[in-house]
Amino acid sequence: MSEQLLPVDEVRERILAGVEPILPIELPLTEAYGCVLAEDLASPFDLPTFASSAMDGIAVRAADVSGASPDRPVELPVVGRAMIGRRSEVPVGTGEAVRIATGAPIPQGADAIVPIEECEFLPAEDGPGAVRVLADPGVGRHVRPAGEDLRAGDPLVPKGRRLLGPDLALLASAGVAHPLVHPRPRVVVFSTGDELVPPGQRPEYGQVRDSNAYQLYASLREAGAVPVMAGIVPDDVEEMRDRVLSLVGQADAFVSSGGVSVGERDVVKAAFFQRGDVDFYKVAMQPGKPQGFGHIEGKPYFGLPGNPVSVFVSFEVFLRPAVLRMSGRTDLFRPEVTARLDAAIGGAQERTVFARVIVRRVEAGAFVATPVGGRGSNLVSSASRANGLAIVPAGTGTAAAGTRVRVMLFRSTGE
Ligand code: AMP
Ligand code: MG
Repeated sequence: MSEQLLPVDEVRERILAGVEPILPIELPLTEAYGCVLAEDLASPFDLPTFASSAMDGIAVRAADVSGASPDRPVELPVVGRAMIGRRSEVPVGTGEAVRIATGAPIPQGADAIVPIEECEFLPAEDGPGAVRVLADPGVGRHVRPAGEDLRAGDPLVPKGRRLLGPDLALLASAGVAHPLVHPRPRVVVFSTGDELVPPGQRPEYGQVRDSNAYQLYASLREAGAVPVMAGIVPDDVEEMRDRVLSLVGQADAFVSSGGVSVGERDVVKAAFFQRGDVDFYKVAMQPGKPQGFGHIEGKPYFGLPGNPVSVFVSFEVFLRPAVLRMSGRTDLFRPEVTARLDAAIGGAQERTVFARVIVRRVEAGAFVATPVGGRGSNLVSSASRANGLAIVPAGTGTAAAGTRVRVMLFRSTGE
């Protein structure tokens, strides 16, 4: 292990090079929601598949009612009714009209729809009677043609698209019930430390409630991954190794918090350092200096530090982009804005500081960032109040009030 501080970007590049998109599988539409499409899809047929009426009214031959107006209505016999959901049994012959509902297929022979507002119906004793047409629709009026949306063979949804509501609707319309997508990565979450207890248990003096597991759970869910909660592992090298190895079959990746720095109980390092496939190093960042990354049985392993804010920042800086990459995404980073600091952020000279801030939009396009809480990486409440991480690059020293800084936004500024 090197004592030298590695630049943040270099570590992130190394991590991103060490993960790859999970092999695609076919999933039903509901499970494919939020996943990245792994193939270019073309429309298998015309959409919509048949011509239909956009209005309730009558289907006619436009030529028959040419020039119709309230003063010069044209009277036509109504010869039947076109219903939604099936082919009209009655064609529209010359000089005839067929009642039609919105969404019903256009009957054979018709080429225009006259909406009911432009009709006067003349009831008959028996049968559908006749209609007086008060307006000239012109050919094609209120007809939704087949293929108006997409033609057979047109691009449907491109490879790389993350499937949201309109995309799922389009796939459903095109009959693609099981698209080929990159599945959500299953990420096993461990918390390490003899001092940890679950949040529902009353700790003895000196014990600490496990908060990191929930931080990671939420962040993974938000990133579209499937967290597998593997609980608390004591600072025992054998147990750590056994627990991780026992879950290899259920995992696409592992993340643990704690046990990666230089203390005698740094169990993660002790369990995996010897194997030579997980690297432990120090990153030029504050918080989050000690980190581990590598592979266990070919699965990416992220060893995060133990302090809760370090976990949060490490997730945002390293894990989130890696998880997105595993999900097949290419937009790996949070949106960033430039904001003016309204109070100073103490710099760390040789390390990049990721400082919790509350960002507000003060006018169109202008943002102000207020640092929250202290710098301590144990201060969970400050991360909960913040909506952004201001980046004070290594070498900057203290960023004075008034300085403009880049801020990664992890919540919208209105939340
Ligand atoms: P470590 O890196 O294991 O020495 O942990 C650093 C600090 O983070 C210690 O004060 C731990 O008690 C604390 N810590 C480690 N894991 C957790 C956790 N899962 N939840 C809350 N605090 C933790
Ligand atoms: Mg520990």
